[in-house]
Amino acid sequence: MEMRDLKLDGNAIGGLMLELFGSDMTGAGSVCAGCGAHGEMARLDVYVGAGIVGRCCHCEAVMIRIVQGRDRTWLDLSGVASLELS
Ligand SMILES: [Zn+2]
Repeated sequence: MEMRDLKLDGNAIGGLMLELFGSDMTGAGSVCAGCGAHGEMARLDVYVGAGIVGRCCHCEAVMIRIVQGRDRTWLDLSGVASLELS
């Protein structure tokens, strides 16, 4: 199985983001720290393995990483320059 077989879009982690942020994030605007592209979180290319990685659909830079343990979650948003919540 190749990585592209595992590719989902940001809607696949909508429920998890709702749990983490307390609001529906799929429509939130985000700016990629790598290339500056602006788009909705739903447009992320999402890969699910030991953790969850969301990549920019324009430059493939990693924008978000989510790792869940038994009683905690690690969230890395260092690839997101900004988030716009409505
Ligand atoms: Zn980008």
